[in-house]
Amino acid sequence: MPLDPRQRVRNVIRQAVATGLLGEEQPVAGFLDTDGIRASVRSLDAAFAHAPDVLHTFAVKAASLVPVLRLLAGLGMGCEVASPGELRLALDAGVPPARIVLDSPAKTPREISEALALGVAVNADNLDELRRIDALRPADSGSVIGLRVNPQVGGGSIGAMSTATATSKFGVALRDPGAREQVVRAFAERPWLTRLHAHVGSQGCPLELIAEGVARTYELAEEINRTLGTRRVTSLDIGGGLPVNFEDEETRPAFADHTRALASAVPGLFDGRYALVTEFGRSLLAKNGFIGARVEYAKEAGGRRIAVTHAGAQIATRTVLMPEAWPLRIGAFDSHGDPRTGVPVRQDVAGPCCFAGDVVAHGRELPALEEGDLVVLYDTGAYYFSTHWAYNSLPRPAVHGFTTDASGGVRLATVRTAQTLDEIAAESGLAHADALAGLGGPEGS
Ligand SMILES: *Cc1c(COP(=O)(O)O)cnc(C)c1O
Repeated sequence: MPLDPRQRVRNVIRQAVATGLLGEEQPVAGFLDTDGIRASVRSLDAAFAHAPDVLHTFAVKAASLVPVLRLLAGLGMGCEVASPGELRLALDAGVPPARIVLDSPAKTPREISEALALGVAVNADNLDELRRIDALRPADSGSVIGLRVNPQVGGGSIGAMSTATATSKFGVALRDPGAREQVVRAFAERPWLTRLHAHVGSQGCPLELIAEGVARTYELAEEINRTLGTRRVTSLDIGGGLPVNFEDEETRPAFADHTRALASAVPGLFDGRYALVTEFGRSLLAKNGFIGARVEYAKEAGGRRIAVTHAGAQIATRTVLMPEAWPLRIGAFDSHGDPRTGVPVRQDVAGPCCFAGDVVAHGRELPALEEGDLVVLYDTGAYYFSTHWAYNSLPRPAVHGFTTDASGGVRLATVRTAQTLDEIAAESGLAHADALAGLGGPEGS
């Protein structure tokens, strides 16, 4: 019998407190559930089990941590990368180039050349990028090359996460006048262009909308192959974007719900005529991680109780800046890591940053938090450990992986240490300390 998720979190917090990974010296840290990550990958594999040829890549921006990428690679996954930094992490994790897909919208000639030399798959964002690839592609390049299209099926509930609106910056906007013909011609002129790519959107996009975007992409592949009289398009990269439920513990929708929606919108998708690539991020990691943070002070202002913690905009950036779009469940624990019981009180849970809006939960009903208590921000395994904000020169917190056994035992391993003050100084120009004072001015003459 596995422990229920609450007990598991409690045991991990207790162990982290007992071993000094969380507390006065380390007031905020991230935790990743490796058993949970394995289970998520298994459910992804199972949902696509009927697809004869599929490569699941992990969207690195969702957790740009080498040990995470290596764990996923060991489970058979590749990586979707969107910058030289993400490509480097995937390679350092040992992901073979043929299992890496490069997707960024602003690839420089140099990045394109390096990806093509390595044999990394490249999805061109637009027709100008294809023209660059014409010039840069070595004749013997092993890279699969695709073209990203925007099926313009519309947006979801979060504008910033919707990539298939009419005016999205991503891909070739398929419904624009003449675009379809240009795309067909681009494939006609390039025998090595064999893939179509669409990522319809992330959090906030309903399954039907994602499936509709994939359907438009599939129809385009069929049209290209019909027009050219040959199977030029041989694979479809259907992106990621499965939304995550942040309201409670349940994983919904499941990957199987997604493949059901895809199969009903695109009946031919899984018949094996097209190899498939996926690029999931949030749905694989979000529910497999949490943040633990110490309450430094508990105070009152204007009749409102406020817990000032060490988890704020530096680690929960989107939640703090866009609280309506990115709410989080919060748990209250005492300083030993035992759940706080007691009558819920409306309180703000605030962070350490010096701006008034640095609040991760407004007016939340929680047992009254006290100095030294710990809060847990649930479902933060995706993006929260990779979308850090350097505001106030706050350090990137440590991240630890954990497993738990049936008897409640916890094993922890460091994924990333907390950034040190020396590292913060180094990335803040310490090596150039004299640069400005020595740059002219009366005293420098
Ligand atoms: C961000 C992104 C993904 C992953 O999105 P999730 O919502 O985390 O699954 C996949 N593909 C592309 C091109 C992306 O930009």
